Amino acid sequence: MKVNDHFKASNGETLISFEILPPLKGGKIQSIFDTLDPLMEFNPPFIDVTYHREEFIYKKRESGYYEKVEMRKRPGTVGICAAIMHRYGVDAVPHLICGGFSLEETEDALIDLKFLGIDNVLVLRGDARKFEGRFIPEDNGHAYALDLVHQVKNMNKGEYLDNTLTNAEPSDFCIGVAGYPEKHFEAPNFDSDLYYLKEKIKAGAEYIVTQMFFDNKAYFDFVKKCRKAGINVPIVPGLKPITKKYQLNSIPRLFHLDIPEDLSKALLDAKSAEARIQVGVEWSVAQSKELKEAGVPCLHYYTMGDAATIKQIAKQIF
Ligand code: FAD
Repeated sequence: MKVNDHFKASNGETLISFEILPPLKGGKIQSIFDTLDPLMEFNPPFIDVTYHREEFIYKKRESGYYEKVEMRKRPGTVGICAAIMHRYGVDAVPHLICGGFSLEETEDALIDLKFLGIDNVLVLRGDARKFEGRFIPEDNGHAYALDLVHQVKNMNKGEYLDNTLTNAEPSDFCIGVAGYPEKHFEAPNFDSDLYYLKEKIKAGAEYIVTQMFFDNKAYFDFVKKCRKAGINVPIVPGLKPITKKYQLNSIPRLFHLDIPEDLSKALLDAKSAEARIQVGVEWSVAQSKELKEAGVPCLHYYTMGDAATIKQIAKQIF
């Protein structure tokens, strides 16, 4: 079932969804089940699985020189989606990125998803490779999520890259895209980012999932600006609890967002690991309650492998 149909079927009730990362290469599918099993009691109608592009790593050779090797540290997104659908009978939403994919590889990936009965994709550009200062598209690849939305939408119309195909079966993917309440870090200003977000919706994206935020005002302001700009699709808030001191620096560095002073102070003042978890849980519960009361379509939790914390939060909300 499509994500948007889940929203419609909910009759205004706030849904819950989770986002998981594939395990590091060589890891077990059981680690995914260990994360999700305890969360299934909350009946998520869909679960997102992130996609991780290949990276360059440098291996030291016997000669002392370094060899540049390409590897994907977290493969398996499509297989995990199939395993989730098989084990839990819920919809899996694979993330699909531009980085590392040519147009043909993207088309083949979409065909795999279609044959697996996957109805949804979250379409993203992806980040720059580690050690590359900026996002560099593949030769014959997409530079922006917008271009990838167009490709999926074309396939939904039965238009494949090979235009000599006759009677090619159209796909029927529901497309989600990312939105940034605190602006995407590369955008010169908020309005420019909003402009391109609207382009993604005009191209056929049907819902937005936001980057995490820790002050609900950022989300509410973002929704207001989207509505004013004529973006009328569901906007799903993405939430992540901060439970560790180092995250006060790593989260702003990685995700380019602000952490409210009250939250950072409470985390710094907490005397033990347990106390820090408590601070993060309480903050996330307060955020979730306010968002649910405001009638958001869904609360989307970035689990990042920490099912226990997410469960503590979800228990107090659902
Ligand atoms: P885009 O929409 O392409 O935007 C990128 C930048 O370019 C923005 O600054 C935008 O304003 C600008 N822009 C957009 N279109 C144009 C245009 N046509 N011309 C000029 N400028 C333009 N990353 C992963 O690698 N794997 C994942 O699984 C993953 N999941 C994510 C899930 C969510 C909910 C979110 C919020 C992010 C996720 N990311 C993931 C991170 C994401 O890939 C990065 O934030 C990336 O830098 C931008 O992706 P995007 O799809 O928002 O890009």
